[in-house]
Amino acid sequence: MSSIFTKIINGELPAYKIVEDDQFLAFLDINPNAKGHTLCIPKKEINKIFDMEEEDYVALMRFSRKVAKALEKAVPCKRIGMSVVGLEVPHVHVHLIPLQEMDDIRFTRKTSLSVEEFEELVKSIQSYL
Ligand code: 5GP
Repeated sequence: MSSIFTKIINGELPAYKIVEDDQFLAFLDINPNAKGHTLCIPKKEINKIFDMEEEDYVALMRFSRKVAKALEKAVPCKRIGMSVVGLEVPHVHVHLIPLQEMDDIRFTRKTSLSVEEFEELVKSIQSYL
């Protein structure tokens, strides 16, 4: 069965998509740790990041870096934190999280955003890509 994220890639589930190419997609996390929390995923469904082919892994890091730089301009923060967990969704994803404090990267505290805030974030991040 396809992962939730494969369904997002295929347009079967909605998402606030930021940017994609033939290999990767960046979209906003629906239950963000902090405003601007973004996920970067490979379109090829694979469970664990270190099982990726080396060149695909490096390409995912390159894609994530580009998105992180735009995110840092769009969302005021001290820096962009990066994390890979995957305990909830078994489809590789890099978390990019605008950080103000350590709690923002701990996945214990969530923030809720309105549809308008999600849409505004997408536009703002895209404007810096
Ligand atoms: P992890 O697998 O790294 O523990 O976390 C999965 C992440 O995916 C969580 O931050 C969660 O909020 C996010 N997530 C789970 N389902 C969806 C979804 O349907 N849409 C979006 N945009 N994010 C999701």
